[in-house]
Amino acid sequence: MGLFRKKTPKEFAGAAETKEAAREETHILFSEEYCLGALECGLCKDACIADAITIEHATNFISIDRQKCIGCASCVETCPMGALDVL
Ligand code: SF4
Ligand code: SF4
Repeated sequence: MGLFRKKTPKEFAGAAETKEAAREETHILFSEEYCLGALECGLCKDACIADAITIEHATNFISIDRQKCIGCASCVETCPMGALDVL
């Protein structure tokens, strides 16, 4: 059994035929209970190359626009709390 390794953004871009295909293959998960607070942290928003993450000031959580997300996993790798995952 091989070790699972997340694709780098570059590898992901090469693997998906189009951005639309990447979006359809991607399921991004966000666990609020692990998030440090978007206003205090916000590292995932800064890491997102598709501008898919916004900070909800009212709730202090992030919001992910699934139409923009291409599943590159940059946010997953950046989050210090493991609050994000890509399936
Ligand atoms: S996986 Fe994360 S960093 Fe990549 S496009 Fe989606 S929300 Fe942005
Ligand atoms: S990087 Fe992680 S802890 Fe920081 S705002 Fe994003 S989800 Fe929350």
